[in-house]
Amino acid sequence: TYVIAEPCIDVMDKACIEECPVDCIYEGRRMLYIHPDECVDCGACEPVCPVEAIFYEDDLPAEWAHYVTVNADFFDDL
Ligand code: SF4
Repeated sequence: TYVIAEPCIDVMDKACIEECPVDCIYEGRRMLYIHPDECVDCGACEPVCPVEAIFYEDDLPAEWAHYVTVNADFFDDL
């Protein structure tokens, strides 16, 4: 799955939402989140993010590795 990390916080540009073919990017209070079970790994969202907040899970910078859990937990709490 692709994951949204810290640069999205308080930015929420939403360009990614327009690109996602399966509408699996959801809006939270301070950032956007990708539903891990709905993402089809197409990669369309990654290049359009103006703050480079989106990464394939295995390519996350180490300091943001926990965002895999942050994204998944958002949907557990709904
Ligand atoms: Fe949507 Fe594709 Fe990005 Fe997954 S990788 S969130 S399916 S645009």
